[in-house]
Amino acid sequence: MTATIFESEVCPRCGGSGHYSFNLVDGTKCYGCGGSGHRLTKRGAVAKQFYLDSLLKPLSEIKSGDKIFDTFYSKWLTVSHVERDPFNPDPITVRTEDGSSHQTYRVNLFYKNGRSIGTSESAKERSVSSEEERIEKLNAALDYQKKLTKTGKLMKKFQKKYAGI
Ligand SMILES: [Zn+2]
Repeated sequence: MTATIFESEVCPRCGGSGHYSFNLVDGTKCYGCGGSGHRLTKRGAVAKQFYLDSLLKPLSEIKSGDKIFDTFYSKWLTVSHVERDPFNPDPITVRTEDGSSHQTYRVNLFYKNGRSIGTSESAKERSVSSEEERIEKLNAALDYQKKLTKTGKLMKKFQKKYAGI
């Protein structure tokens, strides 16, 4: 059983054991908690998302030595450099989730471990320049969590401070 940094509760499906009814694929692993016995509360889930969002930076702001959370490996990797894709030098138009579009450039992101990925200069990644920056953002999210109601909404008295973020 592992508790998370953000507010969690004992899984109501398995009662914290991590086990539930047996099936051939996953054995007795509980689907309510993935076998951990705990799950984030609504408040914890909102605060965790706040933390993850606070880490997002466009690649144009990421420098050599910064760390990016690589979703493929599920770990932080150190950036070697970012360069414009020499084979695709023309600007491209990217449509964002909110329906707007903008022009950007294709770039190649190289990690110190030799892995590289092709992406766009305006693409956002979860990135930090130092461990201090990561801890600072984590603490800000834990502070934010304290200002949330049980259902994960910002308490009325704090709504002004965070408006527009
Ligand atoms: Zn469970």
